[in-house]
Amino acid sequence: MPADSPMLTEDPTRARPRLYAAPHEVAPDVLLHAAFVNTYALRTPEGLLLIDPGLAPLSGSVHRAVREFSAEPIHTAVYTHGHADHAFGLRPFLEAGERPLIVAQEAVVERFLRYQKTWGWNARINQRQFSLPEPAFPDRFDWPTLTFREALVQRIGDLEIRYRAARGETDDACYLFVPERSYLFTGDLVIWQAPNCGNPQKVQRYPEDWARALEEMAALDAEWLFPGHGLVVHGRQAVRQLLTETARYLRVLVEQVLARMNAGETPEQIVHAVRPDPELAVRPYLGARYDHPQFIVRNILRLYGGWWNGNPAELLPPPPAERAREVAALAGGVDRLVARGRGQLEADRGDLAADLAEWATRADPAHRAALELKRDVYEHLLARAESLMAQGIYRAAANDARRALGQDPLPGGGALSFG
Ligand SMILES: [Zn+2]
Repeated sequence: MPADSPMLTEDPTRARPRLYAAPHEVAPDVLLHAAFVNTYALRTPEGLLLIDPGLAPLSGSVHRAVREFSAEPIHTAVYTHGHADHAFGLRPFLEAGERPLIVAQEAVVERFLRYQKTWGWNARINQRQFSLPEPAFPDRFDWPTLTFREALVQRIGDLEIRYRAARGETDDACYLFVPERSYLFTGDLVIWQAPNCGNPQKVQRYPEDWARALEEMAALDAEWLFPGHGLVVHGRQAVRQLLTETARYLRVLVEQVLARMNAGETPEQIVHAVRPDPELAVRPYLGARYDHPQFIVRNILRLYGGWWNGNPAELLPPPPAERAREVAALAGGVDRLVARGRGQLEADRGDLAADLAEWATRADPAHRAALELKRDVYEHLLARAESLMAQGIYRAAANDARRALGQDPLPGGGALSFG
């Protein structure tokens, strides 16, 4: 589909997901600005309701699109959660003198406070996850002016907006329902990918709460679904199917993990045994192109268990370099580890080759052949990884080896071009 066609589907089981489109009125009185993240402006009797102002670097584009759509003031802006791609695009509106209500679930405030405490950490995560040229993370906040804990009903003129708190990818999420129009704005509870519920670098996610929120939303029987990323869905049946199947996808993973935990299996065993529902996993809205089902399993283990993986040697382990030197000594030297790693790489066992490359480079960080193996292993895994989160970490690891070898880093890929 060309980028200027409506970002809309009535059959999500056959749709081609995408993340970008020229700004357009995607449903009656709803402007969509889709540039990785979806920003919506809804006409109300007393001005605009702006849902997810978006990323700071794209805020000028959002502002222009909204002002071409309508000259009405922003009555209310809402953050469906406090992530960098949703809650940091208000600045041009505020600088133009607008003073909207800024509505959010109350945990958004805690999130912003945490972001202030952990800027360096989050900026590096973002750099790695999205393959950015340098660390990047917001450090200016437009704080909510009206927060709620569980639910909020707002009247804008005679239009009723119902906000409901949820936990899913984050603990600070909410969704909006406009009953008179049968409009449901889900934030990142729907992203046209397998739920971002396992991110290896980020804080706890909430798969069961997420499933419950999806089921609650399905019960609203909305005619229109406006997601945080990806295509708008039109049609009650289509909306219900997408919501209930996404909930089911999560519940299938949670049920398997809990059953195995209760049966006494260790986290190591569980990680390798649990699988997503094969029929649901091939839905266009449940592809593992962003997160990865195994990462979700680890996140469920973290939610219900501790950090210990079940291997007693990992409880109070030796420093990684000492362990690597021990393995190298056992193998007969770093050269033997490298040769073995090359063999595994040729046999397309990048996972085993990665272990061997890590032992080799940790045993001798300046060993050129070990660094070359490390580079080649992670470029191999990068080329085969479907999940953007895995790609980001593999690309960063390959680049660490390249820099140590005095070579140019790989060009960035990154989320802003995925879709
Ligand atoms: Zn998002």
